[in-house]
Amino acid sequence: MEKVDLKNLGFSELNEFLKSFGKERYRSIQILRWLYQKGIQSFDEMTNLSKKFRRELSQATFISTLCPLRVEQASDGTRKFLFQLEDGNRIESVLIPDKARLTLCLSTQVGCAFGCRFCLTGKIGLKRDLSVSEIVNQILAVRRTLPQKRAITNIVLMGMGEPLANYDHSLKAIALMTHPDAFKFSSRRVTLSTVGPLPQLERLSKEKISFRLAISLNATEEETRSYLMPVNRLYPLRKVLALCKRFPLTPRTRITFEYVLVEGMNDSSQDAKRLLRILKGIPSKVNLIPLNEAPEIPFKKPSEESVKRFQEILMEGGITAIVRTSKGREISAACGQLHGKG
Ligand code: SF4
Repeated sequence: MEKVDLKNLGFSELNEFLKSFGKERYRSIQILRWLYQKGIQSFDEMTNLSKKFRRELSQATFISTLCPLRVEQASDGTRKFLFQLEDGNRIESVLIPDKARLTLCLSTQVGCAFGCRFCLTGKIGLKRDLSVSEIVNQILAVRRTLPQKRAITNIVLMGMGEPLANYDHSLKAIALMTHPDAFKFSSRRVTLSTVGPLPQLERLSKEKISFRLAISLNATEEETRSYLMPVNRLYPLRKVLALCKRFPLTPRTRITFEYVLVEGMNDSSQDAKRLLRILKGIPSKVNLIPLNEAPEIPFKKPSEESVKRFQEILMEGGITAIVRTSKGREISAACGQLHGKG
């Protein structure tokens, strides 16, 4: 019988699994704490479980782990982690310090099928989905490199891949991130960023979600969005926005709209005004991300003045708009720059 990777199991699956050993629910809680709070890497360290039970566990399961192949650090403190997976594929995670915050950007797929024109991950194409353990092990591996008193404060699923295209694994990983006996992140500190594949977004709208939702918008009308993000031909902007309008949000929660500003493409005052119009009726805030230029990408970032003008129009129209100065550009760790080449 093939051994089970314990970190691929959500809490209820772990319960079910342990039942087959005749174990009660509290044993699952103990195991979650060992795996995700203490970050142990061997069964011997689970000292509140009997030796017999540990032996049985180790015969039926294993504890997977990830070790960074390479860590690069930019002068602004951003660190990029390159991981090699069991099958030789490579993924990247990025740790971004910002005052008291320490945000970890996770990958959910090897490559990506969506091919957004401003993104290097899209140029790889999709190789495969990550398993739940490969997603959560990124957090554990990065955490092991931190000094004792420094903790990751925020998680964003915004690295390589489209999280909703790997729906079950991304959501199961998030459930572990926010579980009180696993990683214990507040649901306000976990963000899933998506281009908005409609079937999955529809499915998400029917679930009780325990994280923040960010939509990668990047244009205010269909033609430009289809050009920048070919997925828009399949899932057009108007339908994504219509779904956002009826998305059941908890009180005081807003949807974040990510908007990569590309010179001459989507950065005009008309765009800013149109953005105000199309977001009407959606509790929203906007993150403006001036394009991260790369030799493989045929676009330029707008001037600081036009970014400022764009932001002012949104703010005057009553929408919170934050300019995200991209960090880690010199090590290709900024938004849209992950390619897993290392
Ligand atoms: S921006 Fe996101 S969805 Fe688009 S190609 Fe890159 S990783 Fe995929």
